Amino acid sequence: MKILSSLGLLSAACIFMSINSYAQEPIWDGNKVELVTKKLNDGVFAYYQKNSESLEQQGIPLATSGGFIVGDKGVVMIDTMLNKRLHMQARAFIKQTTDKPIIYAVNTSFHGDHAYGNMYLPTSTLVIQHQHTKDYIDQHFEADTQFMIDNFGKNRGIEEIVADTGDILVAKDSKLTLDLGDRNVDIIDFGFAQTGGDLFVWDPSAKVLWTGNPIITVKPSLPWLLDGHLIETLATLKRIYAFLPIDAQIVPGHGSVMQRKDILWHIQYLEAVKTQVQQAIDDGLTLEQTVEKVKMPEYSGYVLFNWVHPSLNIPAAYRDLTKK
Ligand SMILES: [Zn+2]
Repeated sequence: MKILSSLGLLSAACIFMSINSYAQEPIWDGNKVELVTKKLNDGVFAYYQKNSESLEQQGIPLATSGGFIVGDKGVVMIDTMLNKRLHMQARAFIKQTTDKPIIYAVNTSFHGDHAYGNMYLPTSTLVIQHQHTKDYIDQHFEADTQFMIDNFGKNRGIEEIVADTGDILVAKDSKLTLDLGDRNVDIIDFGFAQTGGDLFVWDPSAKVLWTGNPIITVKPSLPWLLDGHLIETLATLKRIYAFLPIDAQIVPGHGSVMQRKDILWHIQYLEAVKTQVQQAIDDGLTLEQTVEKVKMPEYSGYVLFNWVHPSLNIPAAYRDLTKK
């Protein structure tokens, strides 16, 4: 928590032992996590932490999820992972599926657990990022990697990471369509979702969406308003929900494959935060009084609740709703 505020929420990826008193252990260990892969449709695969299906139900934070799409022309890889070890596990899944080259790799945000693996890609792979993501990395890479080492631990392969930013940049509020020959893949900015550089990957023929961190995983996980923007984040999640067909499969930022209806949990939580914090503001409460009042224990099943709700989301909501 102190680290987060001292860095001005600079980069806060998806980790953080320092948020509570978890001694010096990271919430998940980049040296130990084992990934598994799951086929979602022809040529469409997710990868995520082994046993995610049971762990996520218990609200336990999990390692980064990603995936890949195999088209006639080659492969699109979605999120390149925290370190070489996890990157190469993901690469092995691709290799055992196809001999085709990885022509594109997409980062759903600048967070290191989604983008540090870029440097291990083949040199011919084109990295796709949001413009905001490239700008962030260009300006903050050194502080960002130090922050990640502080939170994920030393000797987790972060010390050797070299910045590798986008070859193709997606502008704010825009969409990029990749032509893989037999299929198209859309890279979409649905609006502010967590960092302002949030890209979603949508395969319209397979009806699969990758979300990155804006959707951590199923209930009881909760959104992290790391950079504020409660109102915009809520609107973006509603836009995504409305966009998706009812039978879409969703690969979240940190868990196994979800369904469209699972997104409602996150929307309902943010709606409740908005309503209750607004009421507190209308009643003239200070931020401290609001944190004390808006406890929402019905959402406390998430292991990180005691940090993410009172220390991050309620203050973010209070600031957003008192902005003139
Ligand atoms: Zn993440």
